[in-house]
Amino acid sequence: MTSQLINGVELSKHLRQELQHKVHALSAKGKTPGLAVILVGDNPASQVYVRNKVSACEQVGIHSVLDKAPATLSQEELLTKIDTLNKDPKIHGILVQLPLPAHIDAQRVIEAISPLKDVDGFHISSAGALMTGSPGFWPCTPFGCMKMLESIQFDLKGKHAVVIGRSNIVGKPMAMMLLQKNATVTICHSHTQNLAHLTRQADLVVAAVGVRNVLTKDMVKPGAVVLDVGMNRDEAGKLCGDVDFAGVSEVASFITPVPGGVGPMTITMLLHNTVLAAEQLG
Ligand code: NAP
Repeated sequence: MTSQLINGVELSKHLRQELQHKVHALSAKGKTPGLAVILVGDNPASQVYVRNKVSACEQVGIHSVLDKAPATLSQEELLTKIDTLNKDPKIHGILVQLPLPAHIDAQRVIEAISPLKDVDGFHISSAGALMTGSPGFWPCTPFGCMKMLESIQFDLKGKHAVVIGRSNIVGKPMAMMLLQKNATVTICHSHTQNLAHLTRQADLVVAAVGVRNVLTKDMVKPGAVVLDVGMNRDEAGKLCGDVDFAGVSEVASFITPVPGGVGPMTITMLLHNTVLAAEQLG
């Protein structure tokens, strides 16, 4: 079997066009959606992510404000910036790029963002909403994965989904979203014994680990769908995922590439959440 690609770039293009129409409609009513992005320090990867997010906003007509602060910014100063943005009527979404410098308590900062403007979906009230199946902002990366599954009309009901990784931003919310769609979900992590035994039973595998080749061909049931969230570098410095793409694409029915898979979808869902926030805040 040769897998079909789930192309995150193409799907994003389509979804961003839809968002652009919504943004134009809101702007015509004087309610242009606005996103504030705060970057603390000069982490090179964060700088790239932030630049991509801001340019994606521009592409669909979302007003964006980028606040670049030095790594020496104190936690109090950061909390003050958030407080100001919470009160700013032109700003509907607030994103603090992670990771933050070690002297800042990231969870404290996330909790300071108004839940109404929590477009990253990391606030404890967003996590609680997802856990209980209530309306709220869904974290962008797993939300993007759900959109990818929707695009191939993958019916999750009764399927066995194995999520590798249990972070608060990817693995856990991914598992909750799959559960909500009536999949039977197994969550794996660094202490999981015999990972291959579990993944081989899966109709869907989501790899969100940050370890290259954590999922290989022999670990995948023929015909399974494989979503690769990981972002790693190979020996040549080239971006790659967690999945041995060449091998697994011989057995999976659908697979996401890296780059060009989940990454662009993450940004698209950030735009989606920002538009949703603007609609809800009025
Ligand atoms: P994280 O917080 O480091 O979590 C990694 C998870 O993988 C942990 O739960 C860890 O288990 C588990 N793990 C580590 N080694 C393992 C192994 N050998 N077998 C099974 N599980 C293992 O990372 P994250 O923030 O969730 O991100 C995961 C990956 O996705 C990273 O490569 C990141 O760069 C990428 N990412 C991509 C996007 C995107 O837009 N494409 C967005 C976010 C993240 P323990 O909990 O036991 O430590």
